[in-house]
Amino acid sequence: MLKLSEDMIIEVLSYLDINDVIKLDLSFDCFKKYLVLRLKNKKHNSYKNIWYKGVYNNQYNKCFKCERYLLNDLHVLVICNNCTLKMDDIHNYPSICLDCVDSNNRIISRGAIITSYCPCCINKRMHIGIESYS
Ligand SMILES: [Zn+2]
Ligand SMILES: [Zn+2]
Repeated sequence: MLKLSEDMIIEVLSYLDINDVIKLDLSFDCFKKYLVLRLKNKKHNSYKNIWYKGVYNNQYNKCFKCERYLLNDLHVLVICNNCTLKMDDIHNYPSICLDCVDSNNRIISRGAIITSYCPCCINKRMHIGIESYS
């Protein structure tokens, strides 16, 4: 069987839509290489490893910051244009669990809007409480 090097596989994947690539269950390293390749002509130089890791976590329904599963739980969308992922037909803001919101113990409910720090770029951003299947 033909054996492809990892770099060749990433090169091939870079022709695919991100929604298809997510279904392949890639390791974080491969996913990051895919994103780097796909975004190479876009301004993303300021993005740190934490951004790639957070985007990876969110693609698999985990908290951007701590990797807790978000599936049916109330969680928070961080409206941060620095840290959004815009690619193909998706436009994803970072999603974090309630434990990762620096909210001074304010209660966050569905639809609630608060201002707190983005987990990635540490700017003050709007946070919205959401549930995935509601
Ligand atoms: Zn979290
Ligand atoms: Zn941010």
